Amino acid sequence: MTGSPVTSAEAPAAAAGAAEAPADLVARLRATFRGGRTRSLDWRAQQLWKLRTLLTEHRADLAAALHADLGKSEAEASGAEVDFPIREIDHTLEHLEEWLRPRPVALSAEGFPAGSTAGTRYDPLGVVLVIAPWNYPAQLLLVPLAGALAAGNTVVAKPSELAPATSALLARLLPEYLDNDAVAVVEGGVPETTALLAQRFDHIFYTGNGTVGRIVMRAAAEHLTPVTLELGGKSPAFVDRDADVTRTAQRLARAKFQNAGQTCVAPDYVLTDPETSKALQIALAEAIEELYGPDPAASPAYGRIVNHRHFDRLTALLDSGRTVTGGAHDRAQKYIAPTVLADVGARSPVMQEEIFGPVLPIVEVADLDEAIAFINDRDKPLALYGFTENEATRRRLATETSSGGLGFGMPMAHLRVPDLPFGGVGESGMGAYHGPHSIATFSHRKAMLDVPLT
Ligand code: NAD
Repeated sequence: MTGSPVTSAEAPAAAAGAAEAPADLVARLRATFRGGRTRSLDWRAQQLWKLRTLLTEHRADLAAALHADLGKSEAEASGAEVDFPIREIDHTLEHLEEWLRPRPVALSAEGFPAGSTAGTRYDPLGVVLVIAPWNYPAQLLLVPLAGALAAGNTVVAKPSELAPATSALLARLLPEYLDNDAVAVVEGGVPETTALLAQRFDHIFYTGNGTVGRIVMRAAAEHLTPVTLELGGKSPAFVDRDADVTRTAQRLARAKFQNAGQTCVAPDYVLTDPETSKALQIALAEAIEELYGPDPAASPAYGRIVNHRHFDRLTALLDSGRTVTGGAHDRAQKYIAPTVLADVGARSPVMQEEIFGPVLPIVEVADLDEAIAFINDRDKPLALYGFTENEATRRRLATETSSGGLGFGMPMAHLRVPDLPFGGVGESGMGAYHGPHSIATFSHRKAMLDVPLT
């Protein structure tokens, strides 16, 4: 839709957002917000129901778009991009009233007459901008959108241009289901996003990389707009000597190679001692074969790399260590086999940046002390994973490191607990969302004091 000169007379009402100048679009949504209808619980619930209906009625269309963009299997598309937002919506619908209830606080200060009360209430912010990435292009647009609507805001939703089929589909479908005076989809890349970022929003929710995160935050500073930055980074997995290696390898492989490794919370690399490393290498090769068969290129369950730029970046990392399994690649198909690398040095290319692809390096450390030092010498990760039966080890990982989330035993599963905040810290981002945390993110917590006049 972007770039095509559509006059307002030709533009179907449903596509009005895409044809409008950004300033007009934001002004229109702000007028809706000021009109007050987005504040009612009924309106919020209705929008969430409609979003849910879109997801259930277009599961197959979404799966087809996600297959075109990322070679996603139907199971992965359904699970991560349709069922995940549905669960989030259902949980929100069930608890929204309770989450929005004003909270009293104890009035402990002296000097207030009897009958005085104090508390907080959530106010919606106004017009929210949601900028989504390509790797889970539906989930990462729709879950923040649902949260912003549940909190009573109007929303400009900007899908990623690097997932063009999903972007086009959502730009067509969202206006068919949602209140068009409150939600608009703007497709496009850097120029369109830059034009949006010049506007004054009441909150900007960005998911993607730290370089663009800085651009977003600079633009937001002009208007003192608060931001949530959902970024990435290298999420380590520490495997202790006492861990069940077979089970650990199965869970690591499942998490790492989903979406061909293009998941922000995928385990980026493994830290373990030399003995455990040997056993883990064998177990990982077996786990990968269990998941994708002897030839993952022929497995419908295994995805593809999003584009040739990322394919070239990833294949340049394959020489960073000894190949335990995988290594095969095919540029025409944007295919890179699930790959495990051993004997990987801390200074090797694969350890210099977030991998964001199907390459799992194993870095050997002498013990837990060295693992903790290794983690703390680097940027704070979005997630840290531990595989251990040892309570003291768990406690040390929890208290001596900092990461957006910490998961023992099952990587990436913390995302599926909607009452847990999902977000990063330091280089992996700021702010959080999911469930009640989305309401907190997309609202202002207003302090209220009520003192009787009598
Ligand atoms: P991307 O290239 O799709 O970019 C994300 C968004 O930024 C897009 O909508 C894009 O149009 C916009 N954008 C790109 N350049 C811009 C610019 N110069 N100015 C303004 N906007 C611009 O996605 P990506 O950044 O490649 O995504 C991958 C990264 O995102 C990884 O680092 C990954 O870890 C991270 N990520 C984080 C999460 C999370 O929830 N924390 C989820 C997914 C991905």
